[in-house]
Amino acid sequence: MLALPSGPARADLLCEGARIVAIGPDLDAPGARVIDAGGLTVGPGFIDIHVHGGGRHSFFTKDHQRIEAYAAWAPRNGVTSFLVSTVGTDPGDTAAILSALAPTIGSTAGAEALGFHLEGPFLSPEDGYRGAHPLENLARPDTRLFEKLQTASGDRIRLLTVAPELEGCLELIRSVSSRGICVALGHTNADFMTLARAWQAGASMFTHLGNGCALNIPRHDNIIQRVLALPGLMVSLIPDGIHLPPFVVSNLIKGLGPERTLFTTDAMSAAGAPPGEYSLGSLKVAVGGDRVVRLPGTGILAGSSLRMIDGFYNAARFGGIGAGQAWRSWSRLHNLFNPGAEIPLIAVPFPAGPG
Ligand SMILES: [Zn+2]
Repeated sequence: MLALPSGPARADLLCEGARIVAIGPDLDAPGARVIDAGGLTVGPGFIDIHVHGGGRHSFFTKDHQRIEAYAAWAPRNGVTSFLVSTVGTDPGDTAAILSALAPTIGSTAGAEALGFHLEGPFLSPEDGYRGAHPLENLARPDTRLFEKLQTASGDRIRLLTVAPELEGCLELIRSVSSRGICVALGHTNADFMTLARAWQAGASMFTHLGNGCALNIPRHDNIIQRVLALPGLMVSLIPDGIHLPPFVVSNLIKGLGPERTLFTTDAMSAAGAPPGEYSLGSLKVAVGGDRVVRLPGTGILAGSSLRMIDGFYNAARFGGIGAGQAWRSWSRLHNLFNPGAEIPLIAVPFPAGPG
């Protein structure tokens, strides 16, 4: 079964390397190696634009071997490309991390590291909205500071998550987005007009809607409703059933529409690893038998232990969408972060859905 833009279809697929050269019934290709993908659905590999690690490997490191080890582990979870999502304990530390890891971008074997996603330091300091980000790690929006970090990364920051209500943030969004760097809003409690101005200034995404959010929010005018009402923003969800209960994933997909919905893991090193104590940057976190990552002694979620392949199944199961529709969410990201590239194919067990 192929996950095609027009919907799932049963057909043969002829590839040269990662390039598809023919699709059709009963293709004849003498000398070609035949892979029987009967019972499997074939589609483009997943891209994870928000991931802090997995398979015991953390991106809060200056050791490039952690990124390489993650890249080797990730394809077995369906991930063929990713953004290294990280931020340090202070601007100097963040610059050192970016510069130490920069040589891995574009050079990993396995999944391809396409660049960096900087989740911070320009996030809301408000309790709840800053999530697990320590207050002391946050900074005021500062275009010059961003320039320093971008220089340290060798111009490899591809995505920046910011809280637009912070003073100077709209100017930062304008400056960053005008250089072709994608800006996401997140860890924010901005009002509707500020979100709209941020979109006008060049922001195009919202990071993990429903998380990085206070536990108790006003019943109508809250960050979730405001984002749903702003059609210009693509919105990422963490479909682990914990960050968002299954019925919330379903409601958000319906409210956003499939064209605005993106899926990310926000996974940390415990993804695909057993329960225990792990570190997430400067934080110690605990992963319980329920696979939930928390700050010890609190209910605060700190990243997920989700594997993308499980997120794919969950998104389809909770959201009631077919393989083709779930896959289209990642196709949009490939077009954005890796345009024109030949995307490696993956074959996964998946029942034929409505597309
Ligand atoms: Zn976050």
